[in-house]
Amino acid sequence: RTVYVNGDYLPENEAKISIFDRAFLMGDGVYEVTSVLGGKLIDFEGHNRRLKRSLDELDMPHPAVLDDLLDIHRELVRVNEIEDGLVYLQITRGAPGDRDFAYPDPDTPPTVVLFTQSKPGLADNPVAKKGIKIITVEDLRWGRRDIKTTQLLYPSMGKMMAKKAGCDDAWMVQDGFVTEGTSNNAYIVKDGKIITRALSNDILHGITRAAVLRFAEEAQMQVEERNFSVEEAKDADEAFVTSASAFVMPVVEIDGVALGDGTPGAVATRLREIYIEESRKVAV
Ligand code: PLP
Repeated sequence: RTVYVNGDYLPENEAKISIFDRAFLMGDGVYEVTSVLGGKLIDFEGHNRRLKRSLDELDMPHPAVLDDLLDIHRELVRVNEIEDGLVYLQITRGAPGDRDFAYPDPDTPPTVVLFTQSKPGLADNPVAKKGIKIITVEDLRWGRRDIKTTQLLYPSMGKMMAKKAGCDDAWMVQDGFVTEGTSNNAYIVKDGKIITRALSNDILHGITRAAVLRFAEEAQMQVEERNFSVEEAKDADEAFVTSASAFVMPVVEIDGVALGDGTPGAVATRLREIYIEESRKVAV
């Protein structure tokens, strides 16, 4: 695989970054994951906008390379012959000469890394036909989940807790209310109404979430942005999650409780079809 590191396209085993890199020592980095369908990027502009916001929220200077990101994404998709898959992008505060809690001089060059992941058949993922099972866990992440940082240890722990319980993923819970999944936004459907937590510092502002809610409204579906509890979720008719890599993924079980008849719901299934179809039309 060819990867991109600080201006160079290299074979992955030749790519190197410093041991003093702030993301390695402090988790001081931001990232984006953009999906690729039919060799084209889905929602690139949305991811780019959120990337700039994440940088701003952490007082990270905007590197000049931001202007070239579309070209770099496209070049990696081309050289790695990605038909369906993902492009991962990370920008860190760079590698000052030593370890220090204070931010380095803003002139410190950032570290910019991109790589692709090939996921053949991403749009026809067979898991979407079956739905996923989730557990709920306490949300023990920091208070700025709206910034897409590389501090992903707790979500990884949540994912492993789910696997140990024989499930696929975890929904995180704060004060009895669901915040989001380990790497996705969370939704329930009750009496035809789509319910999802409103945007705040508590959750990542999903790019897929924004698109899906727009498509839902265009399709005359009812959307309510508000907190929902674990009890309400278990009593829902259906549930689903959204992310750039899963698109819309039905949830069929929460903490061992089957939703509806335990198969993917009609709303989630329809939204998945609409999202994939409409996003393909405007992919770049
Ligand atoms: N919430 C969290 C915590 C995430 O990590 C992600 C994606 O990685 C999402 C939500 C979904 O965001 P997006 O739709 O932009 O991929």
